[in-house]
Amino acid sequence: MQPIPVRQWGWPIPENEHILIAGPCSAETAEQTLASCQGAARQGAHILRAGIWKPRTRPEAFAGIGEAGLPWIVEAGQVTGKPVAIEVASARHVELALKAGVDILWIGARSTANPFTVQEIADVLRGVDVPVLIKNPVNPDLDLWIGALERIALAGVSRLGAIFRGFSVYKPGIYRNAPMWELPIELRRQFPTLDIIVDPSHITGNRSLISYIAQHAIDLDFNGFMIETHIDPDHALSDAAQQLTPDQLGEALSRLVHRRPSVDDPEFLANLEALRYDIDNLDQEIIRSLGQRMEVSREIGHFKRDNEVTILQMNRWSNIFESRVQTALQAGLSEDFARDLIQAIHNESIRQQGGVMNTPAAVLAKETTAGMGPVNNPT
Ligand code: PEP
Ligand code: MN
Repeated sequence: MQPIPVRQWGWPIPENEHILIAGPCSAETAEQTLASCQGAARQGAHILRAGIWKPRTRPEAFAGIGEAGLPWIVEAGQVTGKPVAIEVASARHVELALKAGVDILWIGARSTANPFTVQEIADVLRGVDVPVLIKNPVNPDLDLWIGALERIALAGVSRLGAIFRGFSVYKPGIYRNAPMWELPIELRRQFPTLDIIVDPSHITGNRSLISYIAQHAIDLDFNGFMIETHIDPDHALSDAAQQLTPDQLGEALSRLVHRRPSVDDPEFLANLEALRYDIDNLDQEIIRSLGQRMEVSREIGHFKRDNEVTILQMNRWSNIFESRVQTALQAGLSEDFARDLIQAIHNESIRQQGGVMNTPAAVLAKETTAGMGPVNNPT
């Protein structure tokens, strides 16, 4: 695929600052939009946001003010001197937003999940020079997120950014949308120059946790935040529990520690290097030990094959699982990690023993000669 273009937002946001997008979840009235945006701008927002068309889960929920709200957000931009961003979910939304003078568009999580919608938006953006931000899809599918970025990039949009807002869960726990940080981290690994903005409001669904997630976003070296800010959050028509007042936004921001990816201090660098040397050696040791362990697994595989014994003996596996988790807990590892680790080792062990006893290649070769032919599995 062609490369996805990078930070050329066209707005004066210094490279070393975290980008702040703030404003209400929804534009409700002209006064509420203006006051919320002015409050956000006072707290240092670089870009203002407001939802005009709201994708609501249930039909009785407030679905946004619609077209009538466009002049309100545009006016808020003019009064504060800040660019304004809204969500678009169809070609018509794009046309109306651009005609009204909206500066930046974003594609919401539900739209990103639908390639037809993304393509419709891409088609109408062809030849239009507007920055576009793409939220992750509601489901944790990195390729779908990348696919949306590629569709918009292929339409010729050169100013692109990504917004991480977590993933839908059946029953919300601490978070409204689970932050599986490994997905935006992998997006960053594949596209190192693409700006990734974190949306603590939709991740948490809870205003008390906004600064915690924002801090984590800084600590993982993401590029900024989208934080819902409302002049009167408790009476907001959408997402009341997660919105901050402008003063609360200022307070949350003031608590953040702006850590950097690195510093020039030679003592710090020398200490870090020594610790990293240890880590590098330990990783090598762990991988070599795993290699030895799998050698033993293969030997067991031969032994079981020759004696016609199954790969899996449930008692043995239960004992292994429990005893290894205990050892891992004593070694200071978390229970979740311990479980995942033991499972991964055991899966690989089964795969290695299976390779000795019964390979898919051997099965396919037999089926081909029996006339079933190779099986294709297009997605
Ligand atoms: C929003 O930003 O108001 C919104 C609807 O977000 P998401 O698409 O992440 O649900
Ligand atoms: Mn919202």
